[in-house]
Amino acid sequence: MTVSLPTISRSGGGARRQLDGLAQAHPEWRSWLNLYAETLRAGEDPAWAEAVPSLAKDRSPIAPLLMGATVSMPLGQADAWVRHLFAAAGREESPQTAALAAAAESDRLDAVALLEATINQDAPRLAALSAEVGVDSDALGAVAQLAALPLLRACARVLTPLVPPAWNGGCCPVCGAWPAVAESRGLERSRRLRCGRCGTDWGLVALRCPFCGTDEHTQLGSLISETEGEARKVETCDNCRGYVKSVATLRAWAPEEVPLVDLASVDLDLAAIDRDFGRPTAPAFDLGLRLTDPADASAG
Ligand SMILES: [Zn+2]
Ligand SMILES: [Zn+2]
Repeated sequence: MTVSLPTISRSGGGARRQLDGLAQAHPEWRSWLNLYAETLRAGEDPAWAEAVPSLAKDRSPIAPLLMGATVSMPLGQADAWVRHLFAAAGREESPQTAALAAAAESDRLDAVALLEATINQDAPRLAALSAEVGVDSDALGAVAQLAALPLLRACARVLTPLVPPAWNGGCCPVCGAWPAVAESRGLERSRRLRCGRCGTDWGLVALRCPFCGTDEHTQLGSLISETEGEARKVETCDNCRGYVKSVATLRAWAPEEVPLVDLASVDLDLAAIDRDFGRPTAPAFDLGLRLTDPADASAG
């Protein structure tokens, strides 16, 4: 079966190839993959480089860089992008199709607040915003997660050089998200945690749980399939019942590839959940990021 996807013009070649492969193998994922292709195209817009993060002066050294930050960008552009993605979601087949399409046109959609709440992983705010536009909160959250990707990746491109070399936290040092998946990278199989949002990669002592921080080896284990061995496995923690997927790769994934690897390894999520492991529902930090328009700053 051939699946047609929006054309992606320039970069993201590795992500594009993976996306095409997943669409061929899993037609049931086509709606999400179509929207993901929209985020890849949007991410190529040079306008995102206008998003300038100002970091909080009083940020704790153990907090992610965007904690308390203000990001200045043309908010009209952010609003237009969010509405574009909602309109695209409204063209995909889902029980929420009509509601998503209506939200794209609605004055009640506060696109900037939605981006902030998504980046901040602010569940109560997201629930309030979904009620405001009459979209199921899961459906709204799924589109909003995708909508936040170009901005978060633009911030990471600027901030990666500022990540403290000694960062040894369990969450993303830029945006504070828990790792989506771990790379077991190269022939030496070095362990790199990867953020599914901004794409940042960071190291963590191999035998330590990113969620609760325990390095008690009797608490740490792994689920290894008989056919794939160490190449694709689940790292588990009996202390907090958390898990991280680990996938072997010869090279580092591009930021745009991480959500695709995350999706393609959903069988590992199911294996972990089947054994009563889970991922934390609460964020590591209350990020408190704010978006502002440069025009407002110069006017005030
Ligand atoms: Zn991140
Ligand atoms: Zn743990």
